[in-house]
Amino acid sequence: MKIYDCIVIGAGVVGTSIFNKLTRIGKTCLLLDKASDVATGASKANSGIVHAGYDPKPESLKAKLNVRGNKLYPQICQRLGVKLNHCGALVVGNDLEKIESLHQRAKLNGVKTEIWGKQQIQNKVPCINDDINSALYAVDSYVVSPYLFTISLADEAILNGGEIALEEDLISVKKKDCFEITTKKGTYYSNHIINSAGAGYNDVAKILGTEQKPLEFRRGEYFVFDKTYNLDVPCTIFPLPSVVSKGILVTPTVDGNFLVGPTSDESDDCTKVTSKGLQKIKENVMTTIKGINFKKSIRQFSGIRVICGNDFVIEKSKLVDGVINLAGLCSPALTSAPAIAEMVLDLLGYENKELDNLKQIEPYVMFKDKPKDEQQKLLATDENYKNIVCKCEKITKGDILFALNRPLKVHSVDGVKRRTNAGMGGCQGGFCFPKVVENIAQENGIEFEKVLKENRGSEVAVGEIREVHHD
Ligand SMILES: Cc1cc2nc3c(=O)[nH]c(=O)nc-3n(C[C@H](O)[C@H](O)[C@H](O)COP(=O)(O)OP(=O)(O)OC[C@H]3O[C@@H](n4cnc5c(N)ncnc54)[C@H](O)[C@@H]3O)c2cc1C
Repeated sequence: MKIYDCIVIGAGVVGTSIFNKLTRIGKTCLLLDKASDVATGASKANSGIVHAGYDPKPESLKAKLNVRGNKLYPQICQRLGVKLNHCGALVVGNDLEKIESLHQRAKLNGVKTEIWGKQQIQNKVPCINDDINSALYAVDSYVVSPYLFTISLADEAILNGGEIALEEDLISVKKKDCFEITTKKGTYYSNHIINSAGAGYNDVAKILGTEQKPLEFRRGEYFVFDKTYNLDVPCTIFPLPSVVSKGILVTPTVDGNFLVGPTSDESDDCTKVTSKGLQKIKENVMTTIKGINFKKSIRQFSGIRVICGNDFVIEKSKLVDGVINLAGLCSPALTSAPAIAEMVLDLLGYENKELDNLKQIEPYVMFKDKPKDEQQKLLATDENYKNIVCKCEKITKGDILFALNRPLKVHSVDGVKRRTNAGMGGCQGGFCFPKVVENIAQENGIEFEKVLKENRGSEVAVGEIREVHHD
């Protein structure tokens, strides 16, 4: 019977950061999730901003963990080979008093900001509205791919001895000498449990017998724009924040396009996109940016914020010894995730001392982004790199096979999309979708009909409607 030091429930960016950190200090750890991949909850549907930390209330957990997380990101992304764009962020508006107070708050949080006037703003962002006169510039704001960051953390942790159990349904948890966790697939044993199940926090808390929390859900909807639309968005652009949100922002992505959103509307735990929400984005963004052509949008999506009062809840359970509760990890928890992992280590009484002999992963660098000499070598040795699967994003079959053969196995089309960008371009998978399904089936040795779009129940095909001749 194997007894893990820790079982982490919930494989978003927070759970996966904790999982990664635990393996790096030599603890045995299992990351468990009901979904078919990591980063399928809030961690796949957000703005992807590594916030500088000028916004959270000084002394709050949000402020401390944001600022610490922001400092940790560059070194972790460098280690993982994950792109991190040091683009900076501008908070624009004409209420100089509010901008001054954000600047003061930034100082209290230990964050570097500058106050800019009209000319400086227009020089940086030519598409800014002509009537914007002042802004706060946060120097150390970055953008990252939140899912590739999470996936790479998971890959690295597995390479260093961590284990992952996906598509798991929790049935019961008993505590004897250690925890006995029974799922529909089997039984696992552990000395500690970390509940990082995001929107599912209370479902897991109920099974664990730990504290349930009053959670509020707020949906954030977005427009994604085509790469071919060359509106110059050199940095993240926020309006002045309100009590409930940071407002409708425009931000570059690490992939060279940009996002506009998110809304912040009360909701249930459902990632739908609404015409009302999209209309709100169009109306609000006009106050900061001029002339966005929404016909150049290629997709809309939404993510759910899970809120519990005014701050993050990160605590030892008082009801069940050995459980750590993580609730209400809304923004800036993507930024804070590496720092949350450090805090959890501390709560568990573990020293943050990493092992010397840790293995490094090969980064997700697609063929088109590799240096010329490496491309030549691949073309000479592997036919698959001559075969373009996704024409919009120029992703080759070699790239898809690389993604399918990583430490964390993937068997969904969306999982391949998050790892390679195949299907993220102008045609949104219209051309490459069946080819990706075919590659997943062949590489994983499963039938075409068993391939998932995302989670269980999302099989992409039910059978052939006519005989198909594959060349
Ligand atoms: C619209 C929006 C914009 C945001 N923008 C930013 C930003 O720019 N910067 C920033 O720092 N933060 C941002 N955030 C916040 C950030 O995205 C989240 O705080 C972060 O992703 C939370 O990560 P998590 O791991 O706690 O949760 P999640 O990513 O939701 O992961 C929870 C996991 O638990 C699993 N789970 C749930 N129930 C169960 C169960 N019963 N059994 C097993 N597993 C279960 C789920 O499948 C999921 O994988 C934004 C959030 C939203 C919604």
